[in-house]
Amino acid sequence: MTRPERPRNEDAAGTAADGPRVAAGIAGIDPRPGLSAVDPEALRAWIAEAGHAGYRADQLSDALWGGRAVALADARTLPTSMREGIDRAFRFDTIIETDIQVADEGRTERAIHLLSDGVLVESVLMSYPARSDRRARDTVCISSQAGCAVGCPFCATGELGLERDLESAEIVDQVRSAARRLAPHGRRLTNIVFMGMGEPFLNLDRVLAAAEAITDPRRFGLGARHITLSTSGVVPGIRRLTDLAPQYTLAVSLHAARDPLRDVLVPLNRRWPVAAVVDAASDYQAATGRRVSYEYVMIDRINDAPDDAAALVALLRGRGAHVNLIPMNDVAHTPWRASPMDRIEAFAMTLRLSGVGTTVRRNRGQEVGAACGQLAAERAGQPTAPAVARRRALLVESSARALRGERTAQTDRRR
Ligand code: SF4
Repeated sequence: MTRPERPRNEDAAGTAADGPRVAAGIAGIDPRPGLSAVDPEALRAWIAEAGHAGYRADQLSDALWGGRAVALADARTLPTSMREGIDRAFRFDTIIETDIQVADEGRTERAIHLLSDGVLVESVLMSYPARSDRRARDTVCISSQAGCAVGCPFCATGELGLERDLESAEIVDQVRSAARRLAPHGRRLTNIVFMGMGEPFLNLDRVLAAAEAITDPRRFGLGARHITLSTSGVVPGIRRLTDLAPQYTLAVSLHAARDPLRDVLVPLNRRWPVAAVVDAASDYQAATGRRVSYEYVMIDRINDAPDDAAALVALLRGRGAHVNLIPMNDVAHTPWRASPMDRIEAFAMTLRLSGVGTTVRRNRGQEVGAACGQLAAERAGQPTAPAVARRRALLVESSARALRGERTAQTDRRR
């Protein structure tokens, strides 16, 4: 099922279904700052300077963060002249429009957001009903970049390449969009994970500013412990976060415990090898007291052998970490598929018996391309059949060398 979150302004912005950078006449990013990333004190000062009473700042804040106003026009407590002044200086929402695709009987929503320069980014809202041991949760997975430069071969976003970093407000406004969709049902977001498109630690300044807006009690007001920042292993970024010592959960996309194979699955590993990544993550855990989680995509006959489990145990045992095993989702251009469930369960059992806490994660949103690694699949391009065949052959060759323990030079993904 597909529906827009709001009426489309087709004249101004085209439609999300048209593909990236298609909106005729859109030359670049709208230069007006997005209100959701403006510091409340700076906004209050701007309002005073514009000659408005102080309580108007509270009214604007109610409209911005109250969970119902879609546009500045919905902030009806503000006089028209003030709304016009705000609109000249700021963007009430940095998202032009959002298309929603619904899956999992309404419990997963894939949101495709059109930004001011025609770029498309995605977020995924997942609702988990209450269980006997746990309250209901509503989690949104948000993007930090349009596309991604890391190029993990099991991920469609990596196939797209990097279009650009997102602004802080463009990140926060994905959260506001999800919150607005929950509000009519009397629900609130309980968790936010930075696991959508992009490598958050390669856009860290803006990601941290977005997280600050999300946790600021005067703004979105979500507790820091309900936010997860993920990285594929940008060691300087992890070290910087450790110095700040926030209460965010750190998730590391590991996918292999040995360098030769991780070089292939997470190309950033050539720059920051797996041992350095895990050491940095352990230091974050020691500094913050927050348990690090390690994500591990299970790929049939690539990284799911007993030797891989043993290497993972050797790497993580005694570090108090937690591992999430994720069956790989189908992505074009790869020769791989998900490990069978019995092998995933056996892998999980090896880890658990060795004292490494492990969960097998159930995939959500597969039917609308919203599962891990599938975001932007339609926009990753339609290479010719020979190009796909060459790419697959290259991955078969490089993974075979990796499985023999050989490290290789950088894979040329364009071949
Ligand atoms: S898995 Fe994450 S880091 Fe790797 S290419 Fe995809 S978005 Fe980028």
